[in-house]
Amino acid sequence: MSFNPANKIQDLQYFGEFGGVNPSISDSSTYTFLSAKTMFDTFEGNADGCYLYSRHSSPSNLYLGEALAAMEGTETATVTASGMGAITAIIMQLCQAGDHVVSARTIYGGTYAFLKNFAPKFNINTSFVDITNLQTVEDAITTKTKILYCEAVSNPLLEVANIKALSKLAKKHHLTLVVDNTFSPLTISAAKLGADIVIHSLTKFINGSSDTVGGVICGTKELINNLRNVNDGACMLLGATMDSLRAASILKNLRTLHIRMKQHSHNAAYLAQKFEEIGLKTVYPGLASHKSHELFKSMMNVEYGFGGMLTIDVGNIETANALMELMQQRNLGYLAVSLGFYKTLFSAPGTSTSSEIPEDEQQQMGLSDGLIRFSIGLDDDIERTYEMMRQCMIDLNIMVPSESSIVI
Ligand SMILES: *Cc1c(COP(=O)(O)O)cnc(C)c1O
Repeated sequence: MSFNPANKIQDLQYFGEFGGVNPSISDSSTYTFLSAKTMFDTFEGNADGCYLYSRHSSPSNLYLGEALAAMEGTETATVTASGMGAITAIIMQLCQAGDHVVSARTIYGGTYAFLKNFAPKFNINTSFVDITNLQTVEDAITTKTKILYCEAVSNPLLEVANIKALSKLAKKHHLTLVVDNTFSPLTISAAKLGADIVIHSLTKFINGSSDTVGGVICGTKELINNLRNVNDGACMLLGATMDSLRAASILKNLRTLHIRMKQHSHNAAYLAQKFEEIGLKTVYPGLASHKSHELFKSMMNVEYGFGGMLTIDVGNIETANALMELMQQRNLGYLAVSLGFYKTLFSAPGTSTSSEIPEDEQQQMGLSDGLIRFSIGLDDDIERTYEMMRQCMIDLNIMVPSESSIVI
């Protein structure tokens, strides 16, 4: 039987404090102890199941963490106030001054900025590489390297990491493979493919309603205990703690993730195919033309599809901006960053989410300024959406002449 992440979420059972079908929300920052001795043991990390203070852990946060660990198939997990709260904590936890990171060069702009501009203040330095070229990755590894870092499906170029092969490399050189799986929840089970640590921004598909930020680190019990350690744990000490009310609401949204992912994927696949047919330069892992289409297929949990993200390249930033403004005016979605919302979201990454990356480096990695990134929504009638998007393109003279556009 193959691993089914949605079954793992479904199979969790909850009984609230008063028999509620949802766990009660822990509305406390601090917790009482019946004996002073237990309080001491808890500080020492020797009293499992005792709560101390909500920056350390809270019942609501533990429930959400366990559900996400079940989804990823890791021993356990800890939630954080944001995706960046997870990413910065794990890097600071695993690296000492003098250590080195090998990272994919096409990653979330905030992660890139942290590794490039912030971590060097602590003498933690990063080599950014083309993660799809395993030889380049291996060549960048030094005796100081501690972490191999990538996104399963990268932002914004939708490059696909060969997690099994990267895991082998990591093992060979005694590195920790950290995979950001934000773009491909349920679709890719990174830990099952060999990632040591899986992180997510919960802000995106997992919560899915664009009403909160959140993050998670999934890994071994040992790692998660270390992160929470009152003396030297990055989650405990850096303080990016999720609020219990938010944890409870994200847990409720997580339960419909499988249904949403199927619809996001269905819609994105439809649009990607149509866009490609009319001659637009389209990138979507589900297209046979995608460089890593076969690799993605070999890694995916098939029933959730190829995900909700796609990009098109309309040539230049002026055209990209005009198209996005027109699509928003016609209520086809929002000109907004982020992803995983019920409505389609679109933005030009070169001038928004990846603007932290210098222009020459953007060009090197193939991030052109006419690129539009779409997070495709849950539209019930995607054929209507396509027709309306096509009309926007016709009205702006973007339509590349092709067989199928002659009829217009
Ligand atoms: C948004 C995002 C992040 C950062 O998450 P926040 O919740 O905004 O802090 C990290 N990685 C990826 C791939 C993202 O899309």
